[in-house]
Amino acid sequence: MLIGGIEAGGTKMVCALGEVDTMALDGGDAAGAEPVRILERIQIPTETPERTIPCMIDFFAEKGIEALGIGCFGPVDLNLTSQTYGYITKTPKAGWMDCNIVGAFQKALGVPVGFDTDVNAAALGEVTFGAARNCETAIYITVGTGVGVGVYCNGSLLHGLVHPEAGHILLQRHPKDTYKGRCPFHANCLEGLASGPAVEERWGKPGIELADREEVWEMEAYYIAQAVANYILAYSPQKIILGGGIMHQKQLFPLVQRNVQELLGGYVNHPLIKENISEYITAPALGENPGIMGAFELARRAFFFRN
Ligand code: ZN
Repeated sequence: MLIGGIEAGGTKMVCALGEVDTMALDGGDAAGAEPVRILERIQIPTETPERTIPCMIDFFAEKGIEALGIGCFGPVDLNLTSQTYGYITKTPKAGWMDCNIVGAFQKALGVPVGFDTDVNAAALGEVTFGAARNCETAIYITVGTGVGVGVYCNGSLLHGLVHPEAGHILLQRHPKDTYKGRCPFHANCLEGLASGPAVEERWGKPGIELADREEVWEMEAYYIAQAVANYILAYSPQKIILGGGIMHQKQLFPLVQRNVQELLGGYVNHPLIKENISEYITAPALGENPGIMGAFELARRAFFFRN
């Protein structure tokens, strides 16, 4: 079965064609078998919907896909009973506000379309195929241009009133941090203090050029760990996955892990946290692909739910 996946981002659209091996997925034990293979992928710059969506449709047209999954930048409307379900809503990204992205693909391709936020899709990718396999509850955090948090809770993606926006969780400031923050809504939220652009503005260089500056990563870990500790307390995840460009700085992982243990102070009494935290807070197992693999899983679920 062929399916399509889209990782719809504010700067680029990743479109991929995938082949599902339903036996490998349904069999549970996929020893050696790859349940979904990426056959082809392209990237298209995100311009306006009028220019970009037709290019994406062209990629999928004639390929014979039976379902499509979209993990989308937000905010988005995920409420199936809403008149604007499948829309990108109040985004500041020029031209994309109130864009009916799901409708455009449904109309052009005539297949079921699964839809969720980009970070929820990435969480689903890691839960289905990656580091959080077999977890009932897991958190995927991306720290990059923005900070997003996908929440997979008791076997499904958490939406709630709108969808979680835990990248904007409020934090205590580092005592040495004089940077004002980048978020126009909050003086001290995770995204405003710890996203890639925040690191660059605070220290005058992008993170990749600051790899050997200990104080940069000590402060970054101080913020990420506060957020992670709060997610542990709030959701009790069985796995926490940290992805995104900033997390390419691998020295962050032990710093975050140690800070989380200190912040929790032994209160959450589980050996994964107390003794094996390096297995508990990890990098994505799918490398750069959790989003697109999650989009495939959204497609697969849309197909089986609809058919
Ligand atoms: Zn904020």
